[in-house]
Amino acid sequence: MVEQPSRRRPIIDLLEVSKSYQNGSLHVDALRGVSAQIGQGEYVAIMGPSGSGKSTLMHILGCLDVPTSGTYRLAGIDVSGMSESELAEVRNRRIGFVFQQFNLLPSMSACRNVELPLLYGGVGKRIRRERAIKALEEVGLGDRIEHRPSQLSGGQQQRVAIARALVGEPSLVLADEPTGNLDSKSAEEVLSLMERLHGSGRTIVLITHDQEVASRASRMLRIRDGQLLHETVSAGTGAV
Ligand code: ADP
Ligand code: MG
Repeated sequence: MVEQPSRRRPIIDLLEVSKSYQNGSLHVDALRGVSAQIGQGEYVAIMGPSGSGKSTLMHILGCLDVPTSGTYRLAGIDVSGMSESELAEVRNRRIGFVFQQFNLLPSMSACRNVELPLLYGGVGKRIRRERAIKALEEVGLGDRIEHRPSQLSGGQQQRVAIARALVGEPSLVLADEPTGNLDSKSAEEVLSLMERLHGSGRTIVLITHDQEVASRASRMLRIRDGQLLHETVSAGTGAV
């Protein structure tokens, strides 16, 4: 019998996760009973229109926020009831973030930008530099390590941001609209890189409102009005 991806040891295990916001008298149910499992080494896209709950879900997956009810296990650890400092610890150790805005520091070289998470993690200078160079090589920028963001194309800047997400060897790479600010050629650069990273065993969750981008992942979860719809296995090149 062929093993389903979701049957592999799950990195992400969401059980009946709900999230409500209360602003004054306005109550919003942003997530309503979301259950899903994502296995180690999977490449999953979460797709839905504006306002469907994608960012809310990403914040929970990335341990930036906790559910109002339900449980979230990340690599087997229940993070649903953790304190702010415990969540920060899990984030630093296990999650690499990639955002629509690249969030690179303009005055620093590509290498120094990639070193930053290690600097915060207390890693010494020599090891930091070695690991940053290795991460930049992995994203195909081994010949741009001393370039500043302004000397790089949009696609290259996003690849530096991806190297920065990878440098701490996270269990999970979480990308929120990573191609949202890119022209189609640069977007293609980033999407093929994601496929390559998946091919080398990384676990990737990509959030997007763009069907074409989502179809590049090996599995697509659709979200509408805070609920997951049925799953589609795409014919994307990343298919397992
Ligand atoms: P998406 O990322 O898919 O556009 P969001 O997760 O940002 O969707 O939002 C889902 C719903 O939750 C929306 O109705 C939004 O207005 C509401 N919402 C999101 N964040 C907050 C917040 N901090 N306070 C109140 N309502 C919020
Ligand atoms: Mg959003």
